Amino acid sequence: MADLNSPVSELKGIGSGRAKYLKKLNIETVGDVLNHYPREYEDRTAVTPIAELSEDENAVVVARVNDEAKNSYIHGMTITKARIYDESGSISVTWYNQPYAKNNIKAGQTYAFIGKMTVRKNGQREIQSPEVEKTDENGEWRGSIVPIYPLCAGLSQKVFRKIAAEALKAAGDSINEFIPTDIRKKYMLAERSFALRNIHMPENEEFLRLARERLVFEELFMLQTALLRIKAENGFGRKGIKLKMVSMKPFFESLPFKFTDAQTKVFDEISADMTSGGIMNRLVQGDVGSGKTAVAMAAAYMTVKNGYQAIMMAPTEVLAVQHFDSFKAVFEPLGINVALLKGGMKAKEKREALAKISSGEADIIVGTHALIQSGVEFKNAALAITDEQHRFGVRQRQSLSDKGESTHVLVMTATPIPRTLALILYGDLDISIIDSLPPGRQQIDTFAVNTGYRERIYKFADKEIEKGRQVYIICAMVEENEKIEAESVTEYSESLKNTVLGKRNTAVIHGRMKPDEKDSVLKAFAEGKIDILVATTVIEVGINVPNATVMVIENAERFGLAQLHQLRGRVGRGEDKSYCILISDNKSSVTRQRLKTMTSTTDGFKISEMDLKLRGPGEFFGTRQHGIPSLKIANLYRDMDILKDAQSAAQHLAECDPKLEKEENFDLRREIDRLSLDENIGI
Ligand code: ADP
Ligand code: MG
Repeated sequence: MADLNSPVSELKGIGSGRAKYLKKLNIETVGDVLNHYPREYEDRTAVTPIAELSEDENAVVVARVNDEAKNSYIHGMTITKARIYDESGSISVTWYNQPYAKNNIKAGQTYAFIGKMTVRKNGQREIQSPEVEKTDENGEWRGSIVPIYPLCAGLSQKVFRKIAAEALKAAGDSINEFIPTDIRKKYMLAERSFALRNIHMPENEEFLRLARERLVFEELFMLQTALLRIKAENGFGRKGIKLKMVSMKPFFESLPFKFTDAQTKVFDEISADMTSGGIMNRLVQGDVGSGKTAVAMAAAYMTVKNGYQAIMMAPTEVLAVQHFDSFKAVFEPLGINVALLKGGMKAKEKREALAKISSGEADIIVGTHALIQSGVEFKNAALAITDEQHRFGVRQRQSLSDKGESTHVLVMTATPIPRTLALILYGDLDISIIDSLPPGRQQIDTFAVNTGYRERIYKFADKEIEKGRQVYIICAMVEENEKIEAESVTEYSESLKNTVLGKRNTAVIHGRMKPDEKDSVLKAFAEGKIDILVATTVIEVGINVPNATVMVIENAERFGLAQLHQLRGRVGRGEDKSYCILISDNKSSVTRQRLKTMTSTTDGFKISEMDLKLRGPGEFFGTRQHGIPSLKIANLYRDMDILKDAQSAAQHLAECDPKLEKEENFDLRREIDRLSLDENIGI
């Protein structure tokens, strides 16, 4: 007898072929099948009379086949046709290249036909390639709510539905409950076995709703509990290095600009934390270009003046180098030493850097992941800053702060998410928000156009270059394949040679280049030696070249809103008027709404809220750049209420049993460990 842990191949109807396709969906066990939730549902309970069918709308028709279906052969294609009748009228049903469809319907029988009615050029109505389901012996149709799964090529909906039904049968009693009973009672959650059964084979709409609510709660509750457990293990609230407030005057004099009120407010919150005697765990959220780096510098200055080291970690080498340069510019005149540590340094360079770091000669250390690798010894780090930290996991963040005793942690992110959500997702951090941009910033004019405008865009870019400005062109990646990506960027820049931009200096940058190569391209771009940078999303995070005023994004439909917003944030960083042009031929409604959002606002918070709305479940943090495990069923926008419940339940549990050591929470702990949730949370 199969159970949840049995390989899928033990299920009826699964041979090695299907098992292979399932593996592509990360489905290897019976339990995995059950955890592969439908993406949406089709309500097939309502029957539409033939006379009332609307064009292009999915409908169920229950009708009788009078004469046997006929196959005909036209232009090498098999066309199967039959006429079906109900009390309101009749209509043709047609299948293309499915010669066996003929055998599925018998003359004189009544079936349910599920599909869309189309009106052909000659005015004739037909249903093309409907699914056919048998009715009961009385010709009655007991419709159902049918799940639609996210699948890959090689697996049909019908096949997967059967697999799910088999998995439910096999799992039987082995589906156990791991949400503690009192929580289930308090929030009126359905039992797990009920939920799994009804999410795959909903008995009715009400049961489906209950099933979904339970599973959404489960997903968010587990995530939150995992997060709070990390917090408990980290000893949240433990003592931190107590710093003294210092005179910030020399620092502010060395900065080329005056802090905005928002920057001042956030720095005040930071200095209050670091002088409190407790440990700082603070997230600074600020829209693209709001000046987070300068706030980080102020915190670093204060730390150094107290006699400690400050660490700044960036997600890419390119960014680390950029920060290193801007830190040096501000701190060297103040007699403060800044060191750089990254992968790909020559052995000798690296040895020297490590020596400076351990001796304390380096006051501020800027770097990449290399900073948290073994062999790096800090003399006395009191502050660890991570920039655009959503690329680091909690565990990595922890290992950074472990380098020093009770190191303060400051985390910066440009992913503006609604506050309620931030509280939940960044549950172990306090939050500061830089809520205004430095003065004098100009609105970035944004346009959404189709590829027919490309010539004109090139001409426009050429004019801007004539004025001394610079241009980014982003090519979307077709798939997550750096090789193909590199090729498409190179090809694109070649194709520019035959356009008005052919005479301009163009360079490419992509993920396949060596860090040194990337650095030198970006350096040349920053120095104005390159007019046009054709790039992949490598440049998405944090690059700062104020002279660039045009951002052209090809295949804009391939990017999520948050990503488009980040990309747009690469321009409009200086005094000159900037432009963002989104090119797409895609007409889907989601794309159109995304592009419309981009052209109508530059407010990162509004954009992220819209992003939430437009994304389906599993999509929100699904992209790797966010690093948070993709949610399988919860939609953080629609399910906000459940999210709040899940959060209070998790918090309450954390107060009673922070490390999940009580017996009634064993099952829960085992499940969280099994899912390695804490390893995957990347905030
Ligand atoms: P982000 O928050 O996106 O990391 P940065 O820290 O890179 O933004 O800052 C964006 C740009 O704004 C930089 O060129 C920086 O020098 C500039 N900047 C930051 N703060 C101020 C300010 N208070 N006044 C003027 N310019 C500022
Ligand atoms: Mg930044």
